[in-house]
Parts: sequence; C-alpha cells; structure tokens
Amino acid sequence: MAKRVAFRTCPLCEATCGLRIETENGHVTGIRGDAEDPFSKGFICPKGSTLGALHDDPDRLRRPLVRRDGEHVEATWEEAFAEVARRLTTLVATHGPDAVAVYIGNPNAHNFANTLAIRPLVKALRTRNIYSASTVDQMPKHVACGLLYGHPFAIPVPDLDRTDFLLLLGANPLESNGSLATAPDWPGRLEAIRRRGGRVVVVDPRRTRTAERADLHVTIRPGTDAALLAGIAHTLFAEGLAAPGVLADAVTGIDLVEGAVAGFTPERVASFTGVPADAVVSLARELAAAPTAVVYGRIGTHTTVYGTLAAWLVDVLNVLTGNLDRPGGAMFPHAAHERPRRPARTFQTGRWHSRVRGLPESLGELPVATLADEMEAPGDGQVKALLTIAGNPALTTPDAGRLDGLLAGLDLMVSVDPYLNATTRHADVILPPPSVLQKSHYDLAFTALSVRNVSDFSPAVFEREPGSPSEFEILVRLAAIAAGLGAEADPAALATATLAAEIAKAVDDPTSPIHGRDAAEIERALGDRPVEERLLDLMLRTGHRGDGFGVTPDGVSLALLERHPHGIDFGPLEPRLPDALATESGEVELAPPSLIADLTRLERAFDASALDTTAAGGMVLVGRRQLRTANSWTQNVPVLVRGKDSCVAQVHPDDAGRLGLVDGATARVSSAAGSIDVPVVLTDAIMPGVVCIPYGWGHGLPGTQQAFAAGHAGVNVNVLTDASVVDPLSGNAVLNGIPVTVVPA
Ligand code: SF4
Repeated sequence: MAKRVAFRTCPLCEATCGLRIETENGHVTGIRGDAEDPFSKGFICPKGSTLGALHDDPDRLRRPLVRRDGEHVEATWEEAFAEVARRLTTLVATHGPDAVAVYIGNPNAHNFANTLAIRPLVKALRTRNIYSASTVDQMPKHVACGLLYGHPFAIPVPDLDRTDFLLLLGANPLESNGSLATAPDWPGRLEAIRRRGGRVVVVDPRRTRTAERADLHVTIRPGTDAALLAGIAHTLFAEGLAAPGVLADAVTGIDLVEGAVAGFTPERVASFTGVPADAVVSLARELAAAPTAVVYGRIGTHTTVYGTLAAWLVDVLNVLTGNLDRPGGAMFPHAAHERPRRPARTFQTGRWHSRVRGLPESLGELPVATLADEMEAPGDGQVKALLTIAGNPALTTPDAGRLDGLLAGLDLMVSVDPYLNATTRHADVILPPPSVLQKSHYDLAFTALSVRNVSDFSPAVFEREPGSPSEFEILVRLAAIAAGLGAEADPAALATATLAAEIAKAVDDPTSPIHGRDAAEIERALGDRPVEERLLDLMLRTGHRGDGFGVTPDGVSLALLERHPHGIDFGPLEPRLPDALATESGEVELAPPSLIADLTRLERAFDASALDTTAAGGMVLVGRRQLRTANSWTQNVPVLVRGKDSCVAQVHPDDAGRLGLVDGATARVSSAAGSIDVPVVLTDAIMPGVVCIPYGWGHGLPGTQQAFAAGHAGVNVNVLTDASVVDPLSGNAVLNGIPVTVVPA
C-alpha cells in the first residue's frame, strides 16, 4: 500500500489538535502536529503521537468476546449479539427495564457517532438507571449553566486569546490540556496573555505546572473554592466594584446575590479557605480593574461538596465584573452545527430520584456515586445488568473497590469497549469498536466549548477489519435488541429510520432553514454515506452556518469540511446574548433559588470547620491530572508510561516528618471507603495537610488483558473516594478534600 498523509483531529482530549498522520501499508509511520490547522497551528502533546500505537496495540480487541464457563472466548458478531438478545430479553421480562443500568464513559464525548446513537439506545432500554462520567467531574457546570442560562450546555468559556486577566481555580491545563474550554496549546495561550501585559493567577492546593507558569499562585484548602469565590463577590459589592455594565439589562437577580454573599467577608473566608483576607480583597480588585478579565474553574472546584455553588459563582464573578459575553471575558461558543435555541421549559433537576438514596437526576442521569447502591440493595428496580459504553467505572468512579465486587455478581454485563480491562473483565459479552483511526471524526461536543469558532471533519484513516461493524452499527443493533426486535433485526433499516425521523423533525421545525421542504428531497441530498455521517451532515446543513440544502450555497456542509482537511476557522467568539439563552425570561437568571439557598449550607460549614481534618492530625486527599494519561485507557501505550513510576502520593516534607513518612517508601492511605498502599514522593509543591494521588491507575487485575499496563499497574485512588458524599445539587462525586489518614505501610 502506498505511503499516504492524512489529516485528522486528535480525539484523545478536549484540545482538538490537528494531526498530520503518515501511513504506509496500513500502519502509522509518523504523527506530528498539523502546522496548517488554523486552531492548533502544529501544537501536539505526547498523547497525540500515539494514535498509531493505540491502533496497532496487540491487546486491542478485534473480535467480540463471550464468557463461557468463566473464560472469555472469541465469538462471531452474530453469536455475540444473539447472546445479548437472549439474556437481555429474559432479564428485562423478569425484572423490568430499570434492572438494566447503562454507564457512558468519557470517550463517547469525543465520538460523534456514539453521541448520536446513544440517545435512541437509551430510549429503547426504557431504564432510568443511566449513569455517565459527567457525574464524576462535570455535572456541576451543567446544572449551574442550566439554571443561569436555561440550557445545561450553554457554557461560557474563557476568551483566552483576548483576555487581560485570567483567574484559574482547580484547573491544571498544562497537564489536562483544558476541559470545558477547548483550546489547543494552553501553554502558548497562557504565555501569550503574559506577553501582552496581562496576568495569570492560579488558585490550587498544589503548585501545579500551570501554577509554576503563572504570575501568582494562591494556595487554597481543598474543597473551599466556592467560599473564596463568594468572598470575592462580597468584596466587589462591599467596595462598590460590582459593575456589570451593559449586562445589567440582560441579568436578573444581582441584588439577591449581593444579599446572599453578605456574610462572606474576606476574614471569614480566609479562616475557612486558608487564603489570606488581603489576598481575597486583592483578587477582587484585580478582577475589577483589569480592562478585561475572566474567571475559569474546573475539576478541582467541581468535584467537591460545593461543586455546583463553585461552578455558579465563577459565572457570577464574570457577570459582576461585566465580563460575561464580551471579548476577553467569558463567551459563548457557537458551533457550526448549532441551531437557534428556543426558550425551553424551566431547567430543572430531580425530575426523578434514585431508588435507594433518593438522589436527584440531572440531564436524565443519576449520580454514578449511587450505582453500587442500586446494584446492591434488593427490591423492585434493583440493577441486575449493566451495559458499559467506552467506560471503566471500576477504576474511575467513587468507591471503586465496592463497585468492582458488585460487577462480579451481576446477572448480565455487556461492554462496548476495545479492551479487556478492570471493568470489562466482568462482562459476559464484549463488543469491540473500531480503533480511533478506523472511524471518522467530528467534535460535536467540543466545538461547542471552543475558545474560537472552528469546524473540522476527519474521515477514517484506515478501513475496519472485514466484517466488523462500526460503533454506530453496534449501538443501533443493541437498540434494536432493547426494543425487542431481536438479534436478527436489520440495523441498516433501523439507522435509516432514525435518519428519517431527524429529517422529519427538521422540516417541521419553524426555525430550521429547511422548514416545509420535502423530506424525500432532503434525504436524497444527503447521499449514501454511513448513516451517522448523514445525520451529522443534516445537523451541519441546518445549523446556523449551514448551507440549508441550497438556501445559502456557500454555507457549511460535510462536503465543505471535507474540502478543508485542516479545518475551518470562523474567527474569534462573538457576543451572543440574548440568543445563547434558553431561559423563560430571556435573561440571565443570576440568582436561582436553589443556589442562593445552598450558600447557607456553605456558610454553616464555616463554623463547623468540617473540612479542616488536619487540625486532628489527619490529611485530605486531592486528585492529580497527568499529561501522559487520558483517564484510564492510554496506560497500555509504552511510550506514555515508561520511565519513573508516576502513580505516587505527593506529600509535603512537614507532613512526612510529622507522620513518619520517607521519600520513596510506601505509605498506607486510608479513608472511610478503603485503603491503598502507594509510594510517597516528598515535595514542597503540595500544601501541608494535603496528599495528592493521580487517578486512572490500578491495572493488572486478574482477567484483564493489557500487558504493558499490567507491568506498570499503579494503584486505584478511587478505592478511597467515598461514594456516600456527593454535591447535593448535581449529585456529582466528591473526589477532592476527602479526609484520609496516611501512615508508613
Ligand atoms: S493536547 Fe489533546 S488533542 Fe492535542 S495532541 Fe494532546 S491529547 Fe491530542
């Protein structure tokens, strides 16, 4: 096969870098950043160059596995689907649809075909037991934005390329490459802020790589970011610095916020957060004085008991300083596939609750922190079967040790996954998707979170193995089985029916450019691509930049994106209020009653000092992102894992002296949920009283098949996370600020 060069967007993290991929004889011979990509301009991180290794990984499953007499054995696709149909049908007939739970892992957000197929699959299953990685670390932002802007995906992002002052909390984009704010080359973009005379301030319990490159690092006690943000808001009001400017006419509830933060004086906030009162005041003044400024908070702020409060207060500060929806502030991206937002019903959570703990749903999902409860507690609706789609909850969700034990006792488990890993080793049937290079790519999720308006489509680089279905076909076939059509149902007919339904919706929609058009004509115009690409093309062509099937001839379509293999840059973000909103009032509703009430819960904690476990000699645990891992699934790539063991606990030397810990020796870290042994590294980069352990590790369990990862297994920090504690407003897991003890092992 001839040498070839392909261009595609990297699907491994949210940064969406363009890659230039050289191939020969069906293998990758080289990958580098695509210098012609107008957004990433050649930037690449160590993960981006490993797509070839992931494709060629001998442990990547190419054929389905079915468990026979306790062993996973290869099966044909027909045998595998027949097994699912036989057992799922019987199980649902006996126990009802809620007996089946679904766990949707993070990689689905990087896969437009899955995003499009999962909704009909979930509908066909008719279960309320839907769980995803969203309630591990990001549901607070969705809930806060749903309440503020009427839509849980109306998430403003920092306008990195034009801001004069960036305040980051609980975010380490130099390791994570950014999250809920899509931007290739965070290092370069942060450096550019400083080069043009701006300032970058990082608030974090640890001097992270991002903090090292900032103008100022402010140390904060884990789990207290919401209090700091409320203290800054208080100071803005107290010093007459609250100046929403033109936003005043677009926002309701500023006065209610002022009243609600009245008790958050810098002095009280200081004793709770560990951030000195004068630093709280100074942050408020700097935010107010900067020509443009933006506050951005991420995982460290969301994965706490005050996660939704913190997510909301970030946006409150952007409003109070007049920086929402203006260049250099926090702006709403406008993805090419997006259609006009229509005023929706009032956004709400808790439309139903989990059976055992009564936790509220958010966005149609229940908190994954309660999945184990739903499996364990007997009674009507007990979860007896699990479908995982590109997820590894046995390593990545709270109280993982307990969940792992319960997975082994399920009546049925089906996994759509390329690996036999800590989770799928319990599966009865594993349906492996094509590799990352065997599927086409469009960032449905991340162009809607991007700091510039861009659009890219990448065709598959390699053909699939003969006879192997696409991931879309796998999920559609599972939907057919769930709908009672059996394993023999024609997935192509079902997929086409899904497309017809979407076309019908578009021609019925008065806001669509094809309103009133002939559905058959639209279907013909979409050609004969795979159905998932036709669905995407329909979204693009009826989106706000779309060609409207001839209405705007130079508008966006999949064909146009294909003619631009490096992607299209539509320019910097533009102000979008009020169009970005979906609130009933048509305004930003800054003071949702549930959030105002939750401030009282936070204020009560001031007196209890509930988070200060160090006073009693204990420690608190925080997580750690690592540049060379993507959650738990890239640790089988040698080039990313080789070298010094990085799954280590970071401890301050003062704590080590107090606790008898020795650099390089093993410590036993214990919480209410469990206990792990982990090597210790002493560093003054971590705040005293805090122990920091990365996540995504704990490989090499019996029955797994990831040889390299097994040799560099690390330990699973989620054995320590306590699933009984969640952020009450979003149900999000609490991964930061967990009380632990640390002793020599
Ligand atoms: S930063 Fe993210 S998108 Fe860019 S190359 Fe690395 S993993 Fe891929």
